[in-house]
Amino acid sequence: MIKKLSLLALIICLFLGILSPSLVQAQTELTILDSSAQLEFPTRINFSLSARSEVSITDIRLHYTVDQLSHAQVTSEVYIEFAPANKVDASWTWDMRKTGGLPPGSRLEYWWTIENALGDKAETLPLPIQFDDTRYSWRSLTEGEVTIYWYQGNESFAQELMVTAQEALMRLAGDTGAYLEKQVKAYIYANTQDLQGSMIYPQEWTGGAAFTRHGIIAIGIAPNNLAWGKRAMTHELTHLVIHQMTLNPYNDLPNWLDEGLAVYNEGAPSPQFTTRLNEAIAADNLISVRSIASPFSAHAEQSILAYAQSYSLVEFLIGNYGSDKMLELLNTFRQGSSYDGALEKVHGFDMDDLNTLWRDYVIR
Ligand SMILES: [Zn+2]
Repeated sequence: MIKKLSLLALIICLFLGILSPSLVQAQTELTILDSSAQLEFPTRINFSLSARSEVSITDIRLHYTVDQLSHAQVTSEVYIEFAPANKVDASWTWDMRKTGGLPPGSRLEYWWTIENALGDKAETLPLPIQFDDTRYSWRSLTEGEVTIYWYQGNESFAQELMVTAQEALMRLAGDTGAYLEKQVKAYIYANTQDLQGSMIYPQEWTGGAAFTRHGIIAIGIAPNNLAWGKRAMTHELTHLVIHQMTLNPYNDLPNWLDEGLAVYNEGAPSPQFTTRLNEAIAADNLISVRSIASPFSAHAEQSILAYAQSYSLVEFLIGNYGSDKMLELLNTFRQGSSYDGALEKVHGFDMDDLNTLWRDYVIR
């Protein structure tokens, strides 16, 4: 019933040439007068609705869905509290300080359903929202599936980052067979402080982030810090590609593989990694492969070692078994395989065996 009425109303709207057919009228008794969403990046979205009916409006719900990679479309439904009346102005604020935030440029859709005391229903058509960081005037540059957004630095700054991004994608495809399946948006903030201003509860060390389910990267790169910025771009883009490729409802990737591929794709290991790895070998306090399958330690020294070992593990796997095997491994993870199960299927050894083999490789 409701669908038919909505469709009829839509046809009427289109027939009348109304340019904004988002407000669908169910029946003359129940009219949605206005619907809007006000964005306050990065903390909140204020939704508001005004509606009128010949009898009391008794039920108002807001529905929204965030555009992200997932296995089931998730729609959130909010029951709006209000005093039933013939004319209602309702509003609801999505306070992201309570729920966690959304990255810049993330997209969602929202719509309302309302009902009056006679049981008449009306529904607005879904309206898209792009949750942009309006604190800055963004410029953009697109090549293939990658769009770079930036606001500080000249055109060649963005072009250099674009070259880096395209090279990173090519190198990753060569080393692992993984390629970008969906569009990616890279937001380049002018510094770490600006970047952290886009996040709800940023970690003080956050210099870049990949929001893999949204297809969005955000990094703070000062134009005079381009060398670091190129590595960060490559790192976060690699996470994004690998996550797109292996997403499944059952299992994630071991952290050493996820971070290892990201740092490996950056190019030669940073001297900091090499030094830290050699220290750990000399002191015989390498971390086990099984331990770094879980999130890395928050302590700087241990965390650097975890990254250094992850780099070395990926170098070992690709160097010894080739990129075909790496592709096979990633495709096995995509099927939801366990960490040990995937290694056993592709290589015939589990993480403990890998630990032994890798230690023999690295302790020379
Ligand atoms: Zn990383």
